[in-house]
Amino acid sequence: MDSISLKIDTTLCNGCRACELACSFHLKGVCDPTISKIKITRDNETGDVFCDLPPSCPECSFEAKPPCIDACAIGALTGTNSRMERKAKEMKRR
Ligand code: SF4
Ligand code: SF4
Repeated sequence: MDSISLKIDTTLCNGCRACELACSFHLKGVCDPTISKIKITRDNETGDVFCDLPPSCPECSFEAKPPCIDACAIGALTGTNSRMERKAKEMKRR
């Protein structure tokens, strides 16, 4: 199935939640973290970050770069989708 797998490096993630806003804007055209498929929580006392990632995102299977990944300025959020995997295979063949 065409989909996407996401990963967050919680040692890098600062809990800024930009990925949540990018996701909600992509899905519904509004900046509303409550409708984001990614959920980020930061413990303000310890600084620990907890993340809940969707098991799949068919909505972004064919994006050149999924908006949530693009929004993460420090590269804590990574992943691949069908289009990115195809492109990587093409690059290897060259
Ligand atoms: S945009 Fe990146 S640093 Fe910010 S909460 Fe999301 S994964 Fe973490
Ligand atoms: S891949 Fe797309 S649908 Fe999934 S969390 Fe990121 S922006 Fe949202």
